Amino acid sequence: MTKYIYADNAATTKLDIDAFEAMKPYMLEEYGNASQPYFFSKKPKMAIKQARKDVAECIGAKPEEIFFTSGGTESDNWVLRKFGSSTDIRHIITSNIEHHAIINTCELEKEKMRCDVKYLHVDGKGLVDPQELLGVLKEQRECVTSCKITLVSVMFANNEIGTIQPIKELCKIAHEYGAKFHTDAVQAVGHVNIDVAELGIDYLSGSAHKFNGPKGIGFLYIKGGKLENLISGGAQESGLRAGTENVAAIVGMATALKKNCAEIENNRKYLLDLENKLLLRLQEANMDFLRNGVNQVPGNVNLSFAYVEGEMILHRLDLKKIYISTGSACDSVNTQVSHVIKAINIPEKYAKGTIRISLGRDNTEEHINTIVDSIINIVKE
Ligand code: PLP
Repeated sequence: MTKYIYADNAATTKLDIDAFEAMKPYMLEEYGNASQPYFFSKKPKMAIKQARKDVAECIGAKPEEIFFTSGGTESDNWVLRKFGSSTDIRHIITSNIEHHAIINTCELEKEKMRCDVKYLHVDGKGLVDPQELLGVLKEQRECVTSCKITLVSVMFANNEIGTIQPIKELCKIAHEYGAKFHTDAVQAVGHVNIDVAELGIDYLSGSAHKFNGPKGIGFLYIKGGKLENLISGGAQESGLRAGTENVAAIVGMATALKKNCAEIENNRKYLLDLENKLLLRLQEANMDFLRNGVNQVPGNVNLSFAYVEGEMILHRLDLKKIYISTGSACDSVNTQVSHVIKAINIPEKYAKGTIRISLGRDNTEEHINTIVDSIINIVKE
């Protein structure tokens, strides 16, 4: 019997052991500053070069289009705050189920009066309608000024309900109207196949700790490799992102990503099988629940139970050392349903009873049985 069951892999993942081993030399032996010209910095410099190549290959990009950042939040901020030029009138079109790294940044940009923001709606499964995007772009075209630039930013896969968006179609529409396309792919990178060139993506955000890499490191793919700095200072990252490189973390991220990408299909099948077992057992126990989302990223099981509170389920599971997430947050008076659960508009009796179980490759059938048994007991009580 394991000491605990971790089923919150959409929040973060366990560091891959090979990634850990690959990182160690760059902390203990090869710790030279990669930007120095002497021999001691050669290995760290070469390691960064190789890591950039590996990350690029995993998403169908060129190495010079990959920029290392501190994670998904920084990558998202960078694009949203710096696309276009300072003289442009900027517009952002995004969805109403984005991560707060996008939504809060959009709101800040809007406040600065530099940017107009439009939120696309989603259907009951969390899908953006490409026709709505088309409509918004058409409307914008009618009030064009010559120095206007539009960024469409729609997440690849949602962090709560796992829904994968029709990225290729959205990208195509954006380009037809001269807009650039960014995707926050933090939940998707390393879990589903992504080819930025084939999909036509202009900017893509990734974060290592969501694919068994270390925390505090991520990347931004920039088509063509040009974007104004968000962080200024030294000449690292071709002068676009200053700060001494975290070589160990960069190497750990590339190792984890390469390994995950080589196993995408196997992991998908394995996780799908666990998901099906979990759902079947809940159905057999006649539980009254909905599964949210569609075409979910592997391992994401977002469930809404009737007439219970997700927060209560989370805390009762916590006592059993089972770790999951909810689609809500409690204050002292009320349970607040998340913006994603609100946006998909599920019936009221289910909304507050939403939990997210996000399975990873370390989860087993035994874990599923323990999770399901516990949930059935808690909900039936
Ligand atoms: N975007 C999405 C969709 C996420 O799920 C997360 C993390 O939960 C982030 C952005 C932020 O990434 P990071 O933790 O690397 O800053």
